[in-house]
Amino acid sequence: MFDLSKSRSLLERAQSCIPGGVNSPVRAFKSVGGTPPFIVKGEGPYVVDADGNRYIDYVGSWGPLILGHAHPDVLNALKRVIDNGTSFGAPTEIEIILAEMIIERVPSAEMVRLVNSGTEATMSAIRVARGVTGREKIIKFDGCYHGHGDSFLIAAGSGALTLGEPDSPGVTKGTAADTLLAKFNDIDSVENLFKQFKGQIACVIVEPVNGNVGCIPPQGNFLQNLRDICTENDALLIFDEVMTGFRIARGGANELFGVDVDLLTFGKVIGGGLPIGAYAGKKEYMLEVSPSGPIYQAGTLSGNPVAVTAGIETLNHLSPESYDQLEQLGEHMERGLQTIIKTNDYPLSQHRVGSMFSLFFTDRSIRNYDDVKTCNISQFAKYFHGLLERGVYIAPSQYETGFISLSHTTRVIDETLDRIDIVLEKVLK
Ligand SMILES: *Cc1c(COP(=O)(O)O)cnc(C)c1O
Repeated sequence: MFDLSKSRSLLERAQSCIPGGVNSPVRAFKSVGGTPPFIVKGEGPYVVDADGNRYIDYVGSWGPLILGHAHPDVLNALKRVIDNGTSFGAPTEIEIILAEMIIERVPSAEMVRLVNSGTEATMSAIRVARGVTGREKIIKFDGCYHGHGDSFLIAAGSGALTLGEPDSPGVTKGTAADTLLAKFNDIDSVENLFKQFKGQIACVIVEPVNGNVGCIPPQGNFLQNLRDICTENDALLIFDEVMTGFRIARGGANELFGVDVDLLTFGKVIGGGLPIGAYAGKKEYMLEVSPSGPIYQAGTLSGNPVAVTAGIETLNHLSPESYDQLEQLGEHMERGLQTIIKTNDYPLSQHRVGSMFSLFFTDRSIRNYDDVKTCNISQFAKYFHGLLERGVYIAPSQYETGFISLSHTTRVIDETLDRIDIVLEKVLK
């Protein structure tokens, strides 16, 4: 019998000392209910919880673990580097190596600054955009997530079409007024903002694949059109590649879609499971960052050898062939899901880009967040728990993407598909 009793008592203990018992909200299972398994270890495509349940894992620590859990080469590199100490707050050679690896892979990256999380990277990137343009407003897309910086915790306003409203207590109205909301895959919504706020917009920041409301690919020329509008208006285009960077292609979305950008942000995969982030871009903008320029940004632990080593070791394992393999694994998952949907005529839709995938509980075609909001959330919750009980761990929310790693095999994916088939029959028939 599926038992979570140890996790349940750990959750109770955690709730008395940590808000909600977790250090990042989605881990608490609020949108699906129930008890989150407390994880004790990972091995390849699996995680094991405190009660000894083993799951095939499609969360992968929310994206970083593209090689799978506890990859022996990453662990050995970490063991070696730790013998020399953990942080110096002084320059090291391996920071250059990681920066050079990013520049070599990502077409628009000419210079790199390392930080400690994706949130820090995006906050810094919009500061650079504002600093170099001398403008204050930014455009983001409804449903795109850029970490928990104030400027990004903005919801579409109800009355006014375009002005954002704070999406969390503690975010000021002043901050919200500088963030304009557009709709992903809807270029008119961006054009309208540029008309309305002519000469005031510093940058457009976008997840090139909107991976934080499920996985939604950009349609048609959406990304190139963004490039053109930004150029016409002297605004910077920022690709937030914290999720897509080194995940959907060797050079991320920047390479895959062939769209030139001014700034990019990274995190997740470049830390190989340790805390890291980076922002990068054109030299003329990056040279404005302190100490070479006036735009201030700093970090006590930025570029520490532990996180940098995990990043280098991870990127070293990501060859062009690795991305072919991730594509094949992703395609295997996609075909299996499509077969289940078609054979049973289920009201579901599905998207995939490389090793990122999601199944939406709606038969509507998914173009942006508005469409995802039509999903049947209670069906998703039943699906989620059905899979969990059968040893498949997916993200506990309809609004999240699944991640396949290089440690997943077609056999592991077939096992997953068998369980998905069984669970969907229970949920939808
Ligand atoms: C995860 C994520 C972030 C935030 O990164 P953290 O390391 O969690 O701060 C920012 N942007 C995107 C696109 C992300 O997926």
